[in-house]
Amino acid sequence: MRIENHRIPGIWHRQSSNLGAAREKPPVVIVLHYTTGWNGKASRDWLMGEAGGTTNRGSSAHVVVDRDGTAWQIAPFNRTAWHAGPSRYGELQGLNSHSVGIEFVNAGWMKPNGLGDYIDAYGRRMNDRALKKAGGYTLAPHARVGSGSFAWPLYPEAQLETGLEIVQALIAAYPIAAIVSHEEIDTRGWKTDPGPAFPMARFQGLMGEAAGREEAYVVTAGRLNLRGGPGTGFEKIVPPGMLLRGTRLRVLKREGDWAFVAPERADGEEGAIRGWVHGGYIAPMIAA
Ligand SMILES: [Zn+2]
Repeated sequence: MRIENHRIPGIWHRQSSNLGAAREKPPVVIVLHYTTGWNGKASRDWLMGEAGGTTNRGSSAHVVVDRDGTAWQIAPFNRTAWHAGPSRYGELQGLNSHSVGIEFVNAGWMKPNGLGDYIDAYGRRMNDRALKKAGGYTLAPHARVGSGSFAWPLYPEAQLETGLEIVQALIAAYPIAAIVSHEEIDTRGWKTDPGPAFPMARFQGLMGEAAGREEAYVVTAGRLNLRGGPGTGFEKIVPPGMLLRGTRLRVLKREGDWAFVAPERADGEEGAIRGWVHGGYIAPMIAA
């Protein structure tokens, strides 16, 4: 796949009614979502608003990817779509203006009812056999949904492959600095998509293949421990021990959730100190 004039030639294209103005700067973040449903066409039409024959006036996205790998583009990538809600990533606020939103057709969390069935956010009930027939599921807890474990329907390989191709085309066409889940940018703490069944690492792995990208990051926590190894069991490195919010650093390698970094000194030069920080408290430097 490739992108021409902010569109992917060869896939179905119609424009949502729920879009902001054309933006002057290219998108720098890709936000991944699930639709909270099984019916791809119904979600696509909903996100198109009036143009899809629905009453939705508040949300949209750029692309919807169905479970069989079919993709529908409902906004050109140079228009703001409304998918991120109140959101923040690193220094960037209000991600709609800076991002491309991709919706994957998936029901999301399903709560066990104690009788062997699972119930989704819209009250639809499915048993183990029906869920397996629909592509399988994984069980995982999620504090935002409640206590205990929930069923999360898997994403079929055909759907993931289309999604990966689209993301690859976006990375080639725009200065994409990060691929994020809706959950991690949502400042209200409500969102759970695309959820534990989504192979985020496969998508984020595409970033590493993009040549010549600056691995410049910034500390987003108030104080961040710099440690001698990738885990909280490792000693803090003293000095500096703590990195303050806003400290710039370069990521040299990653191991699991941890990143081996080279922090900048106060004068902006790269210092000689190297250490490990938790990757959840750093974000790429993005020029808004
Ligand atoms: Zn979402």
